[in-house]
Amino acid sequence: MRPVLRSVVKTQDDKSGGGRDGAKGLYVVLRGRVIHHRIDRGSARVRRSRATPTLVLLCAVALTMLSLTGGCGGASGDSAAGDDRPAVVTDTTFLADIVQNVAGERMAVSALLPVGSDPHSFEPTPQDAKRIAKSSAVVINVLGLEPQLDGLLADVAGADVQVIEAAAGVVGASEDPHVWLDPILVMTYVENIARKLSEIDPIGGEDYRANAEAYRCELQELDRWIVERVATVPVERKLLVTNHDSLGYFAGRYGFKVVGKVFPTVSGQGAPSAQQIASLVREIEYTGAPAIFLETGANVDLAAQIAKESGVTVVTDLYIASVGEDAPTYLDMMRRNVEMIVKALR
Ligand SMILES: [Zn+2]
Repeated sequence: MRPVLRSVVKTQDDKSGGGRDGAKGLYVVLRGRVIHHRIDRGSARVRRSRATPTLVLLCAVALTMLSLTGGCGGASGDSAAGDDRPAVVTDTTFLADIVQNVAGERMAVSALLPVGSDPHSFEPTPQDAKRIAKSSAVVINVLGLEPQLDGLLADVAGADVQVIEAAAGVVGASEDPHVWLDPILVMTYVENIARKLSEIDPIGGEDYRANAEAYRCELQELDRWIVERVATVPVERKLLVTNHDSLGYFAGRYGFKVVGKVFPTVSGQGAPSAQQIASLVREIEYTGAPAIFLETGANVDLAAQIAKESGVTVVTDLYIASVGEDAPTYLDMMRRNVEMIVKALR
């Protein structure tokens, strides 16, 4: 299904929990859900006015370049029907949002995985294979996140379909693919994506570079906001227990300690032994970790049992690998996660 581009006005009533302004903007709707949202330039200026002077200047330059090149999302048009732009597919929904921010209006970007699904257990369908074969590029986070998709990509990759690894160049990405939970590392995604899209569509090179620069400003702003928010958590409570081993990069960037995981692997596959569970309960009690954090779709039962034994709370529904209805962009998804983590630990 092609995403539908819509230029709409959001009212204050529509405001999501992520602290975004209700704003006029460009929304990409996929399977009836908003998967991409870019605020219009007017709102962007208002939001960025809190930034440091240097950043404001850099962002202003980037936005001016966008105005000159016409690459930003102010005018969407209803071009979805009969869209003849190059199609780009991504693995996850949040990556579709990031790629669309770089591609601007020059490419039609959509995600293979449905909203809320687990990438580690993703099984591509024959329909997915067709979408990949028809696309100009497939952007994946990193090889190893979706093993079944990797196999399919090895078959179709070639002169016609470029496979782009967004996290290429990030040290350790193939061992722990959850790189995107550190927005500073997402800047590497943006650079890789802009460079590769320019190779596919050299005429759009200037647009991709300008879009990438503008999005890097948004990532910097997100990073600064996260630093401020997590500073409200006492250092001795900056302790994370997660469902699977997903928050390593996030913890590393923002000074958290990962105390343990219910499923002690980066994929969340397999089951922990009774010994591992007992050891996690002891670790939680010993460190005083206040909560166990589960991503959307995670099985709550085991975590609930561990939480009961160790006397802590379970926070469900973190958006670890997918955007959601109340957080339709990568930036929103991160803000929502941070608010939930801060609220539970403070
Ligand atoms: Zn994961």
